[in-house]
Amino acid sequence: MKEKIIEVINLKKQFGNNLILDEINFTINKGEAVSLIGPSGSGKSTILRCIADLETLTGGKILIEGHNLQDKGIDKKIKKELLLKTGMIFQNFNLFPHMTVKDNIVKTLRIVKKTAVKKAEEIAEKVLETVGLADKKDNFPNELSGGQKQRVAIARGLALEPDILLFDEPTSALDPEMIKEVLDVMRDLAKEGMTMLIVTHEMGFARNVGNRILFMDKGEIIEDCSPKEFFENPTNERIKDFLNKVLNK
Ligand code: ADP
Ligand code: MG
Repeated sequence: MKEKIIEVINLKKQFGNNLILDEINFTINKGEAVSLIGPSGSGKSTILRCIADLETLTGGKILIEGHNLQDKGIDKKIKKELLLKTGMIFQNFNLFPHMTVKDNIVKTLRIVKKTAVKKAEEIAEKVLETVGLADKKDNFPNELSGGQKQRVAIARGLALEPDILLFDEPTSALDPEMIKEVLDVMRDLAKEGMTMLIVTHEMGFARNVGNRILFMDKGEIIEDCSPKEFFENPTNERIKDFLNKVLNK
């Protein structure tokens, strides 16, 4: 049996009278790297925000490892533990500018998990090694390139040892020459079995690294299939349209 990390069940989200997500259903299993793609404004970020409990749901539910975060009676401590199972990486890094790279990670561990200083420092060094930035630990964020900043943000996400990492367009704020170094880190994480849900416009990555594609348009998931089926044999007109636009840019 596949171990389910996230189950999204009949998820609905409205902002005011606008229906933004309409009956969304999908499951992410342990070890999968799933690319969530679709036109701008289709609701991709809103899905990630719902999973990370940054939005209240209008309808449906989201289970994290079988537990319903929205359960009214849920114990605060259990809710916090469940939320720690997901880590989110944003487009704009969100690093503390006045702290070194290492302290960014140490501080996060201290705040979120109350990790002892020495242990937090050990973890920080280990995760910086993982993203290839051990030599930048004493630098400040403004001394790094955009690609390096995003790798620090990924390291910080890893430091909290989540069961799934959610990425919201992690490379779209980067200059083209820096995109690869970030995607390479993500590819290595996927290879090592990290479970990931990735909103991306990088079709090469979605095709070659991910094991599944979820395609959204106008608040609905209209395809959930392998990259091979998606790219080689798209049957839906909206998908053909999208691929024509992004691949011929
Ligand atoms: P994507 O990430 O696919 O570009 P989003 O999830 O950001 O799309 O947005 C989907 C739709 O929801 C858009 O029409 C957007 O304007 C709307 N939306 C997102 N956040 C809010 C908000 N806080 N209030 C009102 N509308 C929002
Ligand atoms: Mg978005």
